Amino acid sequence: MGNGIWNLLTMKAEIISIGNELLNGDTVNTNAAWLGEFLTGIGFEVVRIHTISDGHNVIAKTVDTALNESDLVISTGGLGPTHDDMTKKAVADLFGVGYKRDQQVLAHVQAMFEKRNIPFSKSNYAQAEIPENGETLFNKWGTAPGIWFDLEDKHLAVLPGVPYEMKHLIKEKVAPKLREHYGEVGFLYSKYLKTAGVGESILSDEILGDLSLYLNEEVKLAFLPNLGGVTLRLMARGQDKEAAWSKLKPLHDVIYEKAAPFIFGEGKHCSISEAVGDLLREQELRIATAESCTGGLIASSITDIAGSSDYMKGGIVSYADSVKLYQLGVLSDTLESEGAVSKKVALQMAKGVAEKLDADIGISTTGVAGPGGGSEEKPVGTVWIGFYQKEKQYFAVKAFFTKDRLMNKERSKMVALEMVRRVLKGINTMPYDLKKERA
Ligand code: ATP
Ligand code: MG
Repeated sequence: MGNGIWNLLTMKAEIISIGNELLNGDTVNTNAAWLGEFLTGIGFEVVRIHTISDGHNVIAKTVDTALNESDLVISTGGLGPTHDDMTKKAVADLFGVGYKRDQQVLAHVQAMFEKRNIPFSKSNYAQAEIPENGETLFNKWGTAPGIWFDLEDKHLAVLPGVPYEMKHLIKEKVAPKLREHYGEVGFLYSKYLKTAGVGESILSDEILGDLSLYLNEEVKLAFLPNLGGVTLRLMARGQDKEAAWSKLKPLHDVIYEKAAPFIFGEGKHCSISEAVGDLLREQELRIATAESCTGGLIASSITDIAGSSDYMKGGIVSYADSVKLYQLGVLSDTLESEGAVSKKVALQMAKGVAEKLDADIGISTTGVAGPGGGSEEKPVGTVWIGFYQKEKQYFAVKAFFTKDRLMNKERSKMVALEMVRRVLKGINTMPYDLKKERA
């Protein structure tokens, strides 16, 4: 079979999530997402996720099919002692085996009941019964143990549904077994490059272009778009960290060569406000926000970052015209002639807040967030974003977003922060190629 790394490249895994509560929407299936990330991270190809009810037959059938198709199957849920917990029986019946009693589990369950002063009932003995061909994955955090099955060249792990119990069992019991059976997993190097202000298709077709020279079985690139921008996930596998990185580096370098201006940071959890914050600190600049349609979202996002007091002066949520007038110094003539959602008002708001709060930079938003309130001239989703930096730059951009209110707020925030980032980086183009309209 060669070394473990090569084996694992073709190892397929399936996840089975069991529980009626997952089907009717009472519980979000977070276990499957977590397991998918875990398995992918150690090199399995997750080919299917099944979400099924607590029924005996459907469980048996799904486990059977999954084991036929894949090397590793992990199920969660339905392991409790109550009548609706069918997983153990379904699996035992599928394998045509009886049960054996695990004394350690029995003692553990009895002790848990004693501690909580709950009488031990007959059905609780069932917790300590496991299918004859299975191996207990002792669960010190709950009453239901996990069960591991070695099935010729395939493996099945049956785990409880409670998320923290499942995660503990994976880390402490299942992961060592996977290492034992699938060899050293090797190192999977993943790098997340976060971009903003550019759509997925332009980024992929025009900016990055054909990268097939850099991609192969061991080096992969994924585009992960979200409201805030497009995240690029670069992954490479190697014997160890250095080997993986040397495979990844050519792809990494060519992406930077072509798309550097759009990349605001690295790491899955890096945010645009963090990137902007770092630049403001470096350049010793302080910022203030004047927010109408974003209602304080930009200020909130800037202050999500620890240490933001170094550069955040404050913000004014100027929702009503009177606040724009009396707190920000927007001119009543302008409000009357242009309306609140206009370039001039956005400009006056940005400058007004910078002056009022004694900041170097002011940013502003004013728009029609929707779903109502649009007109032919200013349809829902029209947002003006203003930027003012003393003696340097003074402009606004006009963006069109969607009809969805919360999405409009989120996107306005992203564009505003990305505008600030680009100005501070000396990048001339604006997010989504929006035109700078000067005062
Ligand atoms: P036990 O009965 O011993 O708690 P169990 O295996 O029977 O374990 P379930 O009854 O299926 O587990 O689920 C226990 C809890 O975990 C429930 O609150 C359920 O909503 C939650 N849960 C189950 N499956 C998932 C899942 N896939 N994602 C997130 N939560 C889940
Ligand atoms: Mg259940």
